[in-house]
Amino acid sequence: MALLQVNDLEVSFDMRSGSVKALQDINFSIERGDRVGIVGESGAGKSVLGFSILNLISRPGSITGGNVLFEDRDLANLSAKELRDIRGNRISMIFQDPMMTLNPVLTIGTQMIECLQAHRKINKNDAKKIAIQKLQQVYIPSPETRLDQYPHELSGGMRQRIVIAIGLLMDPEIIIADEPTTALDVTIQAEIMELILELCERNHVALIMITHDLGVISQVTNRLFVMYSGRIIEQGPTKEIINDAQHPYTQGLINALPQMTIRGERLQQIPGSMPSLNTRITGCVFHPRCEHAENTCTRTHPKYTTSGGCKVACHMVEKMKSQPLLSE
Ligand code: SF4
Repeated sequence: MALLQVNDLEVSFDMRSGSVKALQDINFSIERGDRVGIVGESGAGKSVLGFSILNLISRPGSITGGNVLFEDRDLANLSAKELRDIRGNRISMIFQDPMMTLNPVLTIGTQMIECLQAHRKINKNDAKKIAIQKLQQVYIPSPETRLDQYPHELSGGMRQRIVIAIGLLMDPEIIIADEPTTALDVTIQAEIMELILELCERNHVALIMITHDLGVISQVTNRLFVMYSGRIIEQGPTKEIINDAQHPYTQGLINALPQMTIRGERLQQIPGSMPSLNTRITGCVFHPRCEHAENTCTRTHPKYTTSGGCKVACHMVEKMKSQPLLSE
């Protein structure tokens, strides 16, 4: 039994113009200790997927197909109390903006202690001890003093560490980190990523890292899902995808990384932009931006092709392999 199993997940939003699908055909499973990356441009559906895993999609959105099973239990069929026990306790989420998690008018200590007491039968002193221990785990100096401080008294990096400590309070089995470093200075980003990685490894916690930054993903994950327009278009071992991506969209993302570009050359960009949810595209959703598109791409949605350890939703995988680019 997988820790988390996502089967044929479909999420739709009711818009004035009709129902639009934000996620389609999403299938994967997560085991304890896995480190999975979900990558794609804005609008690819990454965050919707993160929220769906916690059954946190709210109107006008809803899960319209498939299911999310946590230890074989369908999250859609759980009572509000059972769901609360899983959210925060067993699966916790770290958001990009610490102020989405932290209450600006409560001290750090009050927030951590209240969170612990909401989930566990525990007295205030014991809750305080656990809070201090978690702050130590994320290398917050003078944790006792920090408990008496308000979020605005701390730096951005320190606030994100505290959010991570709150995420760890209940010893979750899965952490979903949604762009956890985007709001931080570049110098702090690497530190926070290292910290998340270290904590997940030490506590054998599964990590689902959602980001638009392939560089970050390649450092911390061992499995990768590349999303485009609400679908997973390539998935497999992170190293294999980074070193030898098969889908033209993934290749475009990798070629756009600064370190992949020769010094002095302009960054390579994927032409065009992600279609909006209510744009209907027949065939492969990437075909309007794809330089390899052929007639079949505009007519038929590609099924997954297995290539090495990866699954790739592209009609041309085999053809592209047999016809290497002239520049190679
Ligand atoms: Fe490009 Fe066709 Fe592959 Fe889609 S199926 S990514 S359009 S080559």
